[in-house]
Amino acid sequence: MSIRFDGQVAIVTGAGAGLGRSHALGLAARGARVVVNDLGVSTAGEGASSDAALAVVEEIKAAGGEAIAHGADVSNDEQVADMVAKTMDRWGRVDILVNNAGILRDKTFAKMDMADFRKVIDVHLIGSALCTHAVWPIMREQKYGRVAMTSSASGLYGNFGQSNYGAAKAGVVGLMNVLGLEGARDNIRVNTLAPTAATRMTESLLPEQALELLAPETITPGLLYLVSEDAPTRVILSAGAGCFAQTRIYETEGILLEGDGNTPENVAARFAEINDPENQKPMQDAFSQTRKYARKAADARGLN
Ligand code: NAD
Repeated sequence: MSIRFDGQVAIVTGAGAGLGRSHALGLAARGARVVVNDLGVSTAGEGASSDAALAVVEEIKAAGGEAIAHGADVSNDEQVADMVAKTMDRWGRVDILVNNAGILRDKTFAKMDMADFRKVIDVHLIGSALCTHAVWPIMREQKYGRVAMTSSASGLYGNFGQSNYGAAKAGVVGLMNVLGLEGARDNIRVNTLAPTAATRMTESLLPEQALELLAPETITPGLLYLVSEDAPTRVILSAGAGCFAQTRIYETEGILLEGDGNTPENVAARFAEINDPENQKPMQDAFSQTRKYARKAADARGLN
């Protein structure tokens, strides 16, 4: 069954370059009308230009697709509201939002200027929240919406020198976890892509051969699935070089320490059991964890 987006409207943030450009082209090639958002900043988030977004719009049009450019800064409420209002004026709906815009301001935490910490959180996490919040009522009303966040191995697994970026990229996973639950009744599905790609963000970090293998176009098919009609929800899809894997958060079965036995020494002594991956499971939501613990404690006391 082929995946198509005919009749649908997609907003892709940071679509003037790299992964966003590839996603925008991919969506348009399969029938979506695309808002190519880009502030046209440097990797560090400096400057501004409409050139990159306009060039991608031209590419889409040249291939027979429909697109408009918008230069909203995703971390600016008013500019985001204007982008969504212009999209609605033009096409009257928003089916897909791809939160992709991003910057880097790497430094070890010891040397990190907290203004750079805030700025990175602002673009990635607040930007994703602002754009999603702006389209949320439209998607609820339509009873249809597909939202993709963009995380990173840096946020999921850690990367030296990226405390700001890693925190922001883990933050969007938290946002997805909650929005996936809140959106479900209105047929809004929320997923996260965790890409690793050759873009200007990574060109100085990777060897030539790796850069050739890691083209953004090798990742976009995964993104297209995450925003398609039959998309899953609350999935973290990790992707690069044509490889796709699901990243999941599991909780081990764990142990119960009761009464006088509930001591830090016993936590230390039984840490291997606490950590035992046998029977580990993902949790459906926060209270699944609470219920699990309450049940274990109640069972041990013979309570119902
Ligand atoms: P890129 O620098 O090529 O593209 C990012 C785009 O976002 C740029 O065109 C930039 O102008 C735009 N942008 C930045 N700040 C903006 C703002 N405030 N408002 C609107 N647009 C803004 O980078 P990329 O590698 O294509 O990254 C895309 C996304 O993927 C980012 O969220 C990035 O963190 C994430 N990511 C990339 C990699 C990778 O290996 N390249 C790995 C993990 C995650």
